[in-house]
Amino acid sequence: MQNLLRSLPKIDEILMDGKIAGLMERIPRDTVVEAARLCVESIREGILKGKITEASEMKLDSIIDMIVETAGRSSLKSLRPVINATGVVLHTNLGRANLSEKALAQVISVANNYSTLEYDPEKGERGSRHVHVESIIKKLTGAEAAMAVNNNAAATMLAMAAIGRNKEMIVSRGELVEIGGSFRVPDIMAESGVHLVEVGTTNKTKLSDYESHINEETAALLKVHTSNYRIIGFTEETSLKELRVLGDKYDIPVIYDMGSGLMTDLTPWGIREPLVKNALRDGADLVLFSGDKLLGGPQAGIVLGRKDLIDKMKKHPLARVVRADKMTFAALEATLLEYLDLEKAYQNIPVLKMITRPEEDLQAECLRLKAAIDEIRDPATGEPVYLTKIEKEEGVVGGGSAPDSRLKSVVLTLTSERISPDSMEELLRRGERPIVVRIHNDKVVFDVRTAKVEDLDIIAKRLEEIASENR
Ligand SMILES: *Cc1c(COP(=O)(O)O)cnc(C)c1O
Repeated sequence: MQNLLRSLPKIDEILMDGKIAGLMERIPRDTVVEAARLCVESIREGILKGKITEASEMKLDSIIDMIVETAGRSSLKSLRPVINATGVVLHTNLGRANLSEKALAQVISVANNYSTLEYDPEKGERGSRHVHVESIIKKLTGAEAAMAVNNNAAATMLAMAAIGRNKEMIVSRGELVEIGGSFRVPDIMAESGVHLVEVGTTNKTKLSDYESHINEETAALLKVHTSNYRIIGFTEETSLKELRVLGDKYDIPVIYDMGSGLMTDLTPWGIREPLVKNALRDGADLVLFSGDKLLGGPQAGIVLGRKDLIDKMKKHPLARVVRADKMTFAALEATLLEYLDLEKAYQNIPVLKMITRPEEDLQAECLRLKAAIDEIRDPATGEPVYLTKIEKEEGVVGGGSAPDSRLKSVVLTLTSERISPDSMEELLRRGERPIVVRIHNDKVVFDVRTAKVEDLDIIAKRLEEIASENR
């Protein structure tokens, strides 16, 4: 044992190694030194505990490999890309919408240079950051005014604070939504200083329920789209059109938090969500929605509608607290511009493209992935390591959108004699680029709808590594 301990390589020796020097070009020196210490320390412990008894178990080459691996792991970014093979297009934990190429390019160009963020180059004077998205939103929707903030939760809070502080807003009991995390309509309202007046019941709210609660303190009628659940059965919901009638009769604004902000009809693909245009047509004075749900842009909260109300919001002190940054505006303007050519938007905006992918397309990608995986053989027997099968399934959109819509999907399922589906799922997500999958009926499911073509090769390569590590 003493001999073994004495022959442990010194840190200085290790750092002279060519491979380690190469590593330090990519990874900070301190990180590499720390990894070297950790590795040598763990070998020392192995010797002391009697787990390592032969010099052949601690060759310099394999120690160096161990250090490269450890340093690589500890220098991984915390926020990094993953492969989404769940088929859930708007996966909130995985960052919701992927941006279009044009949106990405615009973010880079604006972040890499000074910009017109709050500068009007025509007049040579200070401008407003809201103008960048306002004119395109007006053009797309016909709204009188628009603005964007950090997210829809912020937009809702700002609207409440600017329009209803110390006054009342009326909401149906069927629409007191929790979106997830700490976003609950009643809480946001309380934080905004607005008195919530709940009317109706969970399953039925009639127009008369709203009307009987209107008084001098009423600042607005609020309608919240139940984005992440549906109440079905014996139900009655008051429509925007009906609320409009009340709003006109008593001269109070109607605010609609519509959640997803769908700009184009997706019913042919089984998605039944309200359209922004219809919300305005049906008489909402203010419409609020997210930038990174079905719109397919960056995280943002978009508000459009009556100019006097939006002016109030722009001037409110909270507007500064929830203001979006230049990268958001860059991505949002570029995303919105895609909608000027709707046909191209279906190709250019990843969310729309993924939702509308034809079955043949998914089938072809499954075949491609299957072929690559079936190539992975056990060297001893020459047999395929994994059992794969192309199957039909129903997927969801996710991200708290369209809870009762089902996307017809084609998926690749995989099982392995040696590795359980649960272990497989873990091994897949713990690589340098995590691969996130679902398990269904004791099989690992790869839903290629949300994977990029280049992801398929990474998946196959990772499965090959897993096979060789688990022989
Ligand atoms: C998603 C959602 C929100 C929250 O939007 P974020 O952009 O995630 O802050 C608020 N209201 C409704 C109805 C939603 O669906």
